[in-house]
Order: sequence, then C-alpha cells, then structure tokens
Amino acid sequence: MITHWLARNISQRSRLFFGLVRFGMTRQPRPLIANLFITERCNARCLYCYVADVNRPDGTPETQRRMSGPEWLDLIDRLIDRGVRYFTLVGGEPMVSPDCATIIDHLYRRNVFFNLTTNGSLVPKQLDLVRKASQLTISLDGDEAANDALRGAGWHARAMKAIDAAISAGVPVRINTVVTKANRDQIGSIVALCEDRNLFVTFSPCIDAPEFRQAETRKWMLDDKDVKAFFTDLLAWKRRTNRIMNSDVSIQYMIDYPTDFERVVMRDDPEAGYYEAPCTYGRIQYHFNEFGEVFPCGIWWNRPDYAAKTVFDGGLDMAIANASDRPCQYCSFCNRVDWDEMTRPRSLLKGIDMTVRQALGARSNLTAKD
Ligand code: SF4
Ligand code: SF4
Repeated sequence: MITHWLARNISQRSRLFFGLVRFGMTRQPRPLIANLFITERCNARCLYCYVADVNRPDGTPETQRRMSGPEWLDLIDRLIDRGVRYFTLVGGEPMVSPDCATIIDHLYRRNVFFNLTTNGSLVPKQLDLVRKASQLTISLDGDEAANDALRGAGWHARAMKAIDAAISAGVPVRINTVVTKANRDQIGSIVALCEDRNLFVTFSPCIDAPEFRQAETRKWMLDDKDVKAFFTDLLAWKRRTNRIMNSDVSIQYMIDYPTDFERVVMRDDPEAGYYEAPCTYGRIQYHFNEFGEVFPCGIWWNRPDYAAKTVFDGGLDMAIANASDRPCQYCSFCNRVDWDEMTRPRSLLKGIDMTVRQALGARSNLTAKD
C-alpha cells in the first residue's frame, strides 16, 4: 500500500521535474503548472491579506461571472491536454469553495500532482478529501504570538491541528511562512517545528498589495534593509538545517537585489543584467482565478497596466497567450528564482531527493503514529 502511494507520488512529481528540465534546456514555453485560485472567499482575516473577497466592502460584486464546478473540471482537462502536470489549489481559502471537493476528486482521478494550499481550518473535518492531495501547504507564521498577531486569535491552534491531522493521514505537509514585521525573528521556531514534525518550510516576504489594500498591508511589510537582513539570517539557518526549501540561489538573489524591492525590472532597464534567466511565470506557469481570468503571476495580477483575458471570452489559448512573455526581467518575488533553479538539469536529482525525503517523511510520520 505504502509502495503504491509512494510510486504514484513520485511518478507524478517526476513528470513535473522532467517538464521543468525540458523548459530549462529548450526554453520553449508550454503550460506545465497551473495555479487555480478557486475562490477569493476566506474564513480568516489576516491583516496583511490582499485578496478582494466578497465579504469585504471593497470586494468583487456577486454579479461578476464566476467559474462553475463543471467549468473548473473542463479547464483542468484542457490544461492537462496542453501539458500541465502540476496544479495548485489556492484562494482565498480553497476549502470554503463549494467546488473544492469536486475539483480535488477530479485531480485525483486524473492522477496529476496537486498541492492544496490552505489556512488549515477545515483540514481536520475533511481529512478524506485532504488525503487525496499530493501535498498540503499550510500557512503558519511562527509561534502562537507571532502567528496570531496578524492572522488572528486562534489561527495558530487551527493550523497546528491541521498539521497534525494531515500527518496522521500520511499527507506530505509543507509550511508556508509570510515574513512580516510581526515574525521577522521566527525562523528558529518554524525550523524547530519542522524538525520535530518532519516537515519542510518556504519563507516568502509579504508582497505589495493592490491599491485598495496597500495602506494596511504596507504597515506590516519589512523595509528593504530588513528584507535583506532576514535573508542573510535565512542563509545562515540553511547551513544548520535541511528543512528550508528556499534555494541558496534565491536567498542570495534577495540579499544582492540591486534596486528597490518594490520595482519590477523590465527587460530593457539598465539593471536587467542582474538576473538573466527567463521567468517560468508567463512561460510555463499561469494563475487562473474564479472569474476565469488568466495572469502570469501575482505581480501582474495587481498591476494596472495588465488587462487579463478570461477563458470565457476569447478562449483558453488566447487568455494564456495574453498572459505570456511579459516585458519584465525580474522582481522581488523570490519563489520565481526557486522555480528557475528547478529548470536546471542539476536540480533534477535535488528535486527527486527532496521528493523522496518529503514523501518518506510523511509516510514515516504515519508509521510512527500507527
Ligand atoms: S488565510 Fe490567506 S486568503 Fe485567508 S485572509 Fe489569510 S492570507 Fe488571506
Ligand atoms: S519576473 Fe516577476 S513580475 Fe515578471 S513574470 Fe516573473 S514573477 Fe512575474
């Protein structure tokens, strides 16, 4: 049983890694990764959140056309036909969507790797569903005080319950930590948790928000100097633990970033030579939201000079083409560099090693509990 599960998980991930390396070698754009933002609704109210969910006065009106359940399934099928081998379900909180269960069942039946990114609150109640995910990413920003300062009272406890429930179900869990002024000093506590529970973590600095949320979000964002100091600390931590998934290259990229983090550097800007690898966003990976809109990445999602096309009006290929090959060269979204790293042949072995450790970790957690 364990062998079957492991073989399925590894074969799903291998298809992703081979697709990444193929892009690294040929640079031929072709959809490989689809990030499905299946709802903007959420049952949490993190102070730095920039999602315009409908529960807020500034949210999107109910009248805007949304993707139906069958439309999501059809989109997934068409994306698989076009070569997509990795899906993430994101939000908002994806598990509050009425379509979440159907979408997860479908992805599971299609035997494609998918990651469910969640605040964890609904995980313990829906373990049978969660068990179908290839990987679960749970948001956690540090110890209880640091986490709940911005995510709200009780959210640390909810995330921890989710982590333990997922571990008991044998699902590989990854932590995602948004770095802000409230948790700048929390690397140690997160690493300790990962070592204790056999987990891995990615740290992402809080990014800028669209105009309507900017004032609130910016209160919590680190200034450029502190972001660089944070990544310098993170690099030192990487020497001590193998639990941190940010690559050395992406950490160093942030430490040496040659201009304001706020700025997106365009291909014809004088600083463009600082980082030359073509971005995977808008070439092999795309964001799809509940309104059927297609974006290359979260940065362009929030820029007024990008007009997304939807999968409804001109069709999927036209919406993807519109989101492709933007004029930017690099930006402060450090995970972009982690993805680039994975397109290099040398990353294949590293990726497989990480996959096996993560998958075996999840299974050994399960065996230990059994
Ligand atoms: S859990 Fe995520 S989507 Fe929900 S409020 Fe927090 S940051 Fe926003
Ligand atoms: S370089 Fe940055 S802004 Fe440009 S597509 Fe990549 S992630 Fe988006």
